[in-house]
Amino acid sequence: MARVKVTCPECGDVEITSRAVTIVINEKFSQFSYRCPSCKITQLQLASEQTIQILVEVGVPVHQLSPPREKLEGLPLDSALDDDALIDFHFGLKRSDFWEELLKA
Ligand SMILES: [Zn+2]
Repeated sequence: MARVKVTCPECGDVEITSRAVTIVINEKFSQFSYRCPSCKITQLQLASEQTIQILVEVGVPVHQLSPPREKLEGLPLDSALDDDALIDFHFGLKRSDFWEELLKA
């Protein structure tokens, strides 16, 4: 298991095992989180692409927060909700039996 040197905002440079680190990626930014062995606080820090690459190479698991684009392909996203369906839904909400009917469907 690889050891990773990180800089805790509370304690400065600390060494942790790669197993104690988690990479969190969404469409806008990449971060890594770890529990500092010294202050025991879970830290979340922004990371450059290069840092992420190094962490991945030493075996740090990656958690992707938004689905990768290839998983969205083939889904009928364009026809998800058209104007008519939205208007029906809006007026349906005002009917007392709306939820009952919806649950039966
Ligand atoms: Zn610390």
